[in-house]
Amino acid sequence: MDKTWHSTILTLFPEMFPGPLEHSLAGKALKENKWSLQTIDIRDFAYDKHQTVDDTCAGGGAGMVLKADVVDKALTHACNQYVSENPAIIYLTPRGEPLRQPRVHSLMQDHPAGCILLCGRYEGVDDRVIEKWREEKGLIEISIGDYILSGGEIAALTLMDACVRLLPGVVNKQESLESESFELDLLEFPQYTKPQIWQGKVVPEILLSGDHKKIAVWRHDQAEKITQERRPDLWQAYLNKRPFDQR
Ligand code: SAM
Repeated sequence: MDKTWHSTILTLFPEMFPGPLEHSLAGKALKENKWSLQTIDIRDFAYDKHQTVDDTCAGGGAGMVLKADVVDKALTHACNQYVSENPAIIYLTPRGEPLRQPRVHSLMQDHPAGCILLCGRYEGVDDRVIEKWREEKGLIEISIGDYILSGGEIAALTLMDACVRLLPGVVNKQESLESESFELDLLEFPQYTKPQIWQGKVVPEILLSGDHKKIAVWRHDQAEKITQERRPDLWQAYLNKRPFDQR
């Protein structure tokens, strides 16, 4: 495998990729080979004549569970493609660590080779294979939020989009990455464009002043205000990072 950031998706629905990513900066970067994407169909690792990938829940209950042996073979196949590299191995699951921007940064820093993303379906994956890969290969479980999706594919697309934006040269202006929500532990300040007056609503005067210092101060104040109003959790974390006399 070359030095490009590479994502390998294990899924029962390979046709879902790159899907919406094609219509974004990530899609443009994919065409320019700034990163690469490969799908692996979990069903290819089924071994009976019906290509069975799932079975009933042990202990009873509705739904089906993806089989440990099938998923294990698919993960092994994916891993073998990275030779001596160290990709992040991630199972997308509502039971995982909630995804936040610092985790996206650490994935990109600690695993420059890329990531292997396992997408569950039905009631999820037999926990024994998750436990094995966590213990032996450091598999991480990640959730994209406290709600239940039908499958891990949309979660994988979300995570990939967030990761690819951090690759050099994908987002044109480094500055726009640095000012985005979460990057400075705050939500972003409000953005406006032309015309100056729309339906009686006016772009704040200061943004038209050309005084970059004052604009920066205004934006920072707005970011603080919005974070305090909308996300008390982020606001508290932000305050905790400040020197004691500035809280
Ligand atoms: N029975 C599971 C539970 O209650 O935790 C939910 C299974 S869900 C219907 C099927 C698959 O969708 C999961 O295995 C996971 O891969 C994916 N999924 C669903 N919600 C998710 C979320 N919030 N974040 C990441 N993946 C999710």
